[in-house]
Amino acid sequence: SKMVYYFGKTRTDGDTSMKELLGGKGANLADMTSIGLPVPAGFTITTDCCDQYSKAKGKMPKGLMDEVGKVVKTLEKETGKKFGDDKDPLLVSVRSGAAVSMPGMMNTILNLGLNDVSVVGLANKTGNERFAYDAYRRLINMYGDVVMEVGHEYFEEAFDKIKKKYGVSLDTDVPTQGLVELVDAYKKVYKKHTKQDFPQDPMHQLELAIEAVFKSWDSDKAISYRRIEGITGLKGTAVNVQSMVFGNMGDDSGTGVAFTRNPSTGENKFYGEFLVNAQGEDVVAGIRTPQPVKDMPKWKAPNDKTIGKKVHAELMAIKEKLEKHYKDVQDIEFTIEQGKLYMLQTRNGKRTGPAAVRIACEMVKEKLIDEKTALKRIPAGDLTQLLLPSFDPAGKKKASPLCVGLPASPGAAFGKLAFTAEEAVERSHAGEQVLLVRKETSPEDVDGMHSAAGILTSTGGMTSHAAVVARGWGKCCVAGAGAIEIDEKGRKIKVGGKTYSHKDVLSIDGSTGEVYAGQMPTVEPKLGGDFATVMKWADKHRRLGIRTNADSPADSKRAREFGAEGIGLCRTEHMFFEGDRILAMREMILADNLEDREKALKKLLPYQRKDFEGIFKAMNGLPVTVRLLDPPLHEFLPHDKKGQADVARSLAIKPAEVERRVAQLHEANPMLGHRGCRLSITYPEILTMQVTAITEAAINCKKKKVDARAEVMIPLVGTVQELAILRALAAETIENVLAAKKYSGKLDILIGTMIEIPRAALTADEVATEADFFSFGTNDLTQMTFGYSRDDVNTFLPDYIGQEVLEKDPFQSLDTSGVGQLVAMAVEKGRQTNGKIKLGICGEHGGDPASINFCHKVGLDYVSCSPFRVPIARLAAAQAAL
Ligand code: PEP
Ligand code: MG
Repeated sequence: SKMVYYFGKTRTDGDTSMKELLGGKGANLADMTSIGLPVPAGFTITTDCCDQYSKAKGKMPKGLMDEVGKVVKTLEKETGKKFGDDKDPLLVSVRSGAAVSMPGMMNTILNLGLNDVSVVGLANKTGNERFAYDAYRRLINMYGDVVMEVGHEYFEEAFDKIKKKYGVSLDTDVPTQGLVELVDAYKKVYKKHTKQDFPQDPMHQLELAIEAVFKSWDSDKAISYRRIEGITGLKGTAVNVQSMVFGNMGDDSGTGVAFTRNPSTGENKFYGEFLVNAQGEDVVAGIRTPQPVKDMPKWKAPNDKTIGKKVHAELMAIKEKLEKHYKDVQDIEFTIEQGKLYMLQTRNGKRTGPAAVRIACEMVKEKLIDEKTALKRIPAGDLTQLLLPSFDPAGKKKASPLCVGLPASPGAAFGKLAFTAEEAVERSHAGEQVLLVRKETSPEDVDGMHSAAGILTSTGGMTSHAAVVARGWGKCCVAGAGAIEIDEKGRKIKVGGKTYSHKDVLSIDGSTGEVYAGQMPTVEPKLGGDFATVMKWADKHRRLGIRTNADSPADSKRAREFGAEGIGLCRTEHMFFEGDRILAMREMILADNLEDREKALKKLLPYQRKDFEGIFKAMNGLPVTVRLLDPPLHEFLPHDKKGQADVARSLAIKPAEVERRVAQLHEANPMLGHRGCRLSITYPEILTMQVTAITEAAINCKKKKVDARAEVMIPLVGTVQELAILRALAAETIENVLAAKKYSGKLDILIGTMIEIPRAALTADEVATEADFFSFGTNDLTQMTFGYSRDDVNTFLPDYIGQEVLEKDPFQSLDTSGVGQLVAMAVEKGRQTNGKIKLGICGEHGGDPASINFCHKVGLDYVSCSPFRVPIARLAAAQAAL
């Protein structure tokens, strides 16, 4: 099949639908060419070729270079330039571009095609010898670096020598003769380290460059990036070969990067940066801090006073055209060569969560997209960013910032300073909160950027690698804070005459660019406006109900504000850990006869009742599923000598007695041991106490006109007999309480179970005869289906993901093909014998967009997740329904 796709005036083979095959960049270059935008001609080598290259362990696909040879001929004809020509040579760029954008993660080579002959041609053609030799030395350097892996520092050394010889310190001050000598010196460096001459045949250069791009698909940084972003299932990268245009041909040339709208806030303002007399990489690499595009109209060249105005107007026209065409925010790269504007790339712009929400809403208002498209376009998980705290304005007023950088990615972060990516990874794994502080970040730093609480750089603009990557993750980032002097080796920074070390805490505000000493206080966000609009749309389109996992009135209230329609899981054990309760709990556990146990339980009852009243009140009118005690009892006892002595003292028993009971409760596999409903089978009095507390709390609420809607949930059921016994006991307890309280109103307390054990799923038709509802406890269900201990899985999971044994962590995102089968089966069987059964999920998966999609598909009635994920769930549920 076809391996190479041409784009240019002659013909354009690809189009925007071919992202899988041509990569995002390749497909859009073809597309932009087709809609008449000024794109330098070139061609794209398919991702299939990269796949073949990897599979053949580094052998180029057969026939590829023949096809390339043919399109190079077409390109020569169209441009009127020839590879290696001594009059008007064709030069090309070679860039990567996968179906999913991976900014900065793979290789790029510019100025390819220059050799000892064509450099003279380029000098003659442009009348600019300095420029030609500068381009040539850049090629040798980049080529050596990327293709042959010659250390960049060897080239730097050679450059320093030349600069010294001519008594200059800036690259741009080296005279032409110096650059001619530099080319020679670079060739020597190349030869010394590769044992070969720098290749003079452009086709040979091209072949090796293509190969280098293929190879970079499997570089460490590219692999890390894909792991962090969860990118799987791609074939590889495409390779884009495009005729060069030069942004570094003088003061009437330049290069830039822009977003058609602000990617941080979403504001509908063209938003970009450019550098005069520079090549593309100079902007994104963050080496020089560029100028904002809004200042472009002021740009004047000696030979063209209105150049800035002209190019700016052209860019604005292109913005309109691109947004109308793609109906989304575009992230573009452009170059101006001697006053003429060229488009080098466009892609859907990465944006923060807040920006995604605002852009979606405004595009609906502008009638560019409809409501459903808007909903589909917001990554549900990114909504978290709108719920994060920001720095308290009052606190900020009192402090003055150390310096102000660029607001590269919003949020409020604080932490101790870490100076390398490795350090950031290590210290955050050890539990410290760190800020990664770098001059500029390079793609090698992705792991460190990911683990840090925030990122602070001293150079680079809003479109630098650090900024783009941070925004993609919703990670707080301040870039280009030029006032900061970083001493990486000494592990300290200097700013405003003060020094801060790895032990000091700084706070950074990614929404304003401000940097503060110490830890700033934060405030909760106000949710309204566009966020509320998106939630309203989501509620209109979703079928799934959304509940929350909460076990305190405060969490319940917050979840309700986020839109929860009830509690799907209230874990009662959390309520036993506070204050005096733990004592009563321990007394209950340590009791060795029923009487003592009941005495201790009696003490616990009022606590539980009060807790439930608080939660019922917060959830007034909404269902509250209370799960009975679940963890093994030994979890409530101390395991160290001192702790045991303390318990013994406060309960006035012998330490040896505590020790004996702890030893007795020890289990080799506690997660498979005496827990869940098994506790209530052995100690029915625990269930009786809890159900009594629930019922009394409901009655008390009703008397106060609070509409309590309790549901009793029995955990870890594996057989219908367990549930039959415990359901009967629960029902009897409810009746007893009603009678004792002489309450004649209706409580309608439902009694149901969790499906967490594969056997319960397999026999769901039986279990359903005793259950008013099922709630899938997919944490345990995953644990028991895979046989992976959920508490120890991190000992091997990273290897499993790394080696692609598993695509993702099954405890985060439901394993739809395995665990999902059990869920689907239980849904079907449960409904067979109990047409009225209510079905929900309360494992961690209930807040994961992909898992929510599955829950929608198998027909659950609701999902339940932690309060902060409720908005995510609302949106994900709508997306599943669209
Ligand atoms: C579950 O197992 O999915 C569940 C929700 O219960 P827990 O996490 O408390 O075991
Ligand atoms: Mg469980």
